[in-house]
Amino acid sequence: MQKKVENVTYKQSRQRVRILELLRSTTEHPTADWLYARLKKEFPRLSLGTVYRNLTILNDQGLIKKIHYGSTFDRFEANITPHHHLICEECGAIIDFIMPNYDEIIASAGKLTDFTVRSHKIEFFGICANCKEKSIAQ
Ligand SMILES: [Zn+2]
Ligand SMILES: [Zn+2]
Repeated sequence: MQKKVENVTYKQSRQRVRILELLRSTTEHPTADWLYARLKKEFPRLSLGTVYRNLTILNDQGLIKKIHYGSTFDRFEANITPHHHLICEECGAIIDFIMPNYDEIIASAGKLTDFTVRSHKIEFFGICANCKEKSIAQ
């Protein structure tokens, strides 16, 4: 009988299930801190390190996506379908946005270079609808 390799077989973790549920319940692209603050009440012995570890596992399993902004600024989302982001320069909101020509961008980049393009990341910066409304109201 073959012995199971510990770090390949992920133990079902209640905390990890809740992290995934929380991420699926929001479109806000939260940070690990945001998740930690919410789960701390449910799991008093939870540490931020455990949240990060579980996020890494979920990311490796392809269940969530990590948006790299540099360690503590990294944001996470459960929307794993290809999409772009609109980023508000006022409030920092990250809003999902699907460009109709998503695949074309990859194809044309591949044609222009000898690079095998597998994915791409485009972020649009500006002012979100909420902030625009606020500035009009003032
Ligand atoms: Zn905004
Ligand atoms: Zn997103």
